[in-house]
Amino acid sequence: MSRVMLITGASRGIGAATARFAAAEGYALCLNYRQRQDAMDALVKELRAAGTEVIAVPADVADEQQVARLFATLDDQFGRLDVLVNNAGMLERQMRLEQMDAARLARVFGVNVVGSFNCAAQAVKRMSTRHGGQGGAIVNVSSIAAKLGAPNEYIDYAAAKGAIDSMTLGLAKEVAAEGIRVNAVRPGIIETEIHASGGEPGRVERVKGSVPMGRGGLAEEVAAAILWLASDRASYTTGALLDVSGGR
Ligand code: NAP
Repeated sequence: MSRVMLITGASRGIGAATARFAAAEGYALCLNYRQRQDAMDALVKELRAAGTEVIAVPADVADEQQVARLFATLDDQFGRLDVLVNNAGMLERQMRLEQMDAARLARVFGVNVVGSFNCAAQAVKRMSTRHGGQGGAIVNVSSIAAKLGAPNEYIDYAAAKGAIDSMTLGLAKEVAAEGIRVNAVRPGIIETEIHASGGEPGRVERVKGSVPMGRGGLAEEVAAAILWLASDRASYTTGALLDVSGGR
């Protein structure tokens, strides 16, 4: 049977690019999204037409019960899990820290941090040899913002990604002897719709001058790094934070 990859937030952007590359490498796919069913339906149709075994499951990763149902659906459909890509993430409108309220912080940390923990916990229960699993790989999608701090834009989002980095380091060590590798990619400024949700659709154009390579990145350039970390070619790599940021 094909190796099975679960990608959260796969309807658009980096998650969708990862799904296309994974399909081309022969993975069977469980694709999660939150609300954009139109985008997900189109992606599933495209992948099925190319012969990929794929299901799409809506769930808010911040909600523990919905994540439990997502993984129960995975169990029913595939009965195995080889790779989790913890990609679902979001940011809110650009503002200074003193303008952020507790409700916003709960949302930003809920999706980016708690969401990644929720999915990692379910994956470990299935992959770990401690729980009778066959091992596997987890790839977290962090951000170069964890290193830069995102001043005047979204320090909350940067701090949430910093938490993802710490989780990557800790979990990698916790499960290293149980057959699971845990790594993260830290994308820089990538051409997706996430910048519009921060209130600045043209952010890549504005910021690209600060990138040593002088341009924004493509979702496919991040997806390629994710696929490598997921693969057996990265068999001795765990606890790595791989910057995919044009040198930023
Ligand atoms: P995007 O184009 O805005 O897509 C976000 C995806 O995440 C969508 O599929 C969305 O689903 C899903 N999602 C959002 N909240 C969710 C939730 N609570 N539960 C489940 N799914 C949820 O974003 P992107 O740029 O591809 O970002 C993907 C990842 O890369 C994120 O973790 C982001 O923080 C990280 N990243 C991006 C950049 C960048 O410059 N683009 C840089 C560094 C890191 P719906 O379509 O259903 O809304």
